[in-house]
Amino acid sequence: MKKLLSGVIFFWVSVMALAAPKYVFMFIGDGLGASQRQMAEYFVQQDKGDDYKLTMNKMPVAGLNTTHSVNNLVTDSGAAGTALATGEKTNNGMIAVLPNGIELKSTLDYAQEAGKAIGVISTTRITHATPAAYVAKNISRGNENEIAEDFSKSNVDFIAGGGYRHFVSSSTTGSKREDGSLLTEMRNNGYKTFIGETSSKDFINYKPSKNEKVFAALTLSHLPYEVDRMNTQKDQPSLADITNKGIEVLQARDKDGFFMVVEGGRIDHASHANDVAGTIYDTLAFDKSIEVAMEFYDKHKEDTLIVVAGDHETGGLGMGYGSGKPLDLDVIKNVKVSINGTLEKMYTGDRQKYMKFLETNLGLNNLTSDERSRMISAMDAEDKNVDNESLYGGYNPTAIAASHILNERAGVGFTTFDHTGSQIPLSAIGQGSEAFGGFKDNTEIGKEMIKLYN
Ligand SMILES: [Zn+2]
Repeated sequence: MKKLLSGVIFFWVSVMALAAPKYVFMFIGDGLGASQRQMAEYFVQQDKGDDYKLTMNKMPVAGLNTTHSVNNLVTDSGAAGTALATGEKTNNGMIAVLPNGIELKSTLDYAQEAGKAIGVISTTRITHATPAAYVAKNISRGNENEIAEDFSKSNVDFIAGGGYRHFVSSSTTGSKREDGSLLTEMRNNGYKTFIGETSSKDFINYKPSKNEKVFAALTLSHLPYEVDRMNTQKDQPSLADITNKGIEVLQARDKDGFFMVVEGGRIDHASHANDVAGTIYDTLAFDKSIEVAMEFYDKHKEDTLIVVAGDHETGGLGMGYGSGKPLDLDVIKNVKVSINGTLEKMYTGDRQKYMKFLETNLGLNNLTSDERSRMISAMDAEDKNVDNESLYGGYNPTAIAASHILNERAGVGFTTFDHTGSQIPLSAIGQGSEAFGGFKDNTEIGKEMIKLYN
């Protein structure tokens, strides 16, 4: 009898282990390396004490991932997104196809076939590389109009982010299309659509219904950097707000659970611009969206899996200039603007006005003579419109000079304006989360996800 009982238990446990979790969240921090995570956590610890941990840093399963693509040690988000979504490596710039162009099936395709409701969310244009790797197939991430067509035909239940410019007709201001709108067909196919900033309020107040899918593209291009949203565009939803709405919509669809991809897409953009405050606030916004999923997890512990991955590191971010100059993230508290989203637009040739702006909005005052001369060189470069690629990474020289001065004061340094090949951390919790821990290549994460639905 005892033997029989243990056999029954063994069988029962095996079946449990094989079943896909009813609810799966795949969080991807674009450009989210180890330093990005650690720096954001330290920033909050200044106010909340040394015991404070990011939600993603409290998960029981931890991993470390390699990210190289087929043709480069340093991946881009196309190849990295493809690895995470399909479990296969490809060349930089490609979206869910092999280097020879053969199309790959993504986790999302498998989850959809398994009868799950599907959600795809990003703070970038929704046609950008990472979300595209789950929904579209394309030889080039640059073909965003074609990628938009894949989205419009995807039947994904909840799509939300920025980038309506690839969906609206060529006659709409800012459209990148050369033909008609994709929205009419989407509406005919059961989508409730929210287009542009003015529809944000309706989006936030929207009451989901079983019979409606949702498509929200709330900005022409990317959603604002979190530091800009917090300070000047509070009426726009945060990534956490969008994630929350996504859960509501997918639950209302009343299918056999859901699979949701949430990308914190602008951590990468901020780190490209060597923007410490931008990187921190977008990482914290990403973490808040994970907190929303954790609240859901607490109510559905037996049925939920949450995986938090990065796609690559951006900027070669390092913390502390040796033990003599450790971090001083206090100086970042004075920053109210992003480098790339706002500061780049502020220099008009009026030097005094610009210096005043830096004082008020970045807390950059009492410049040393070295700092002052670097600002003057940058203004000279910008006034003369000299090549800004090597010194300033193609960004406006004045914005990068100010950013670098601020970074030095904070004890933080970037080695590049591009991605790096360094390994990145992963966290997971919930049903089947153990499979994602340990030292893995990014393709193994995709493969483990696909296994859930096979
Ligand atoms: Zn990038």
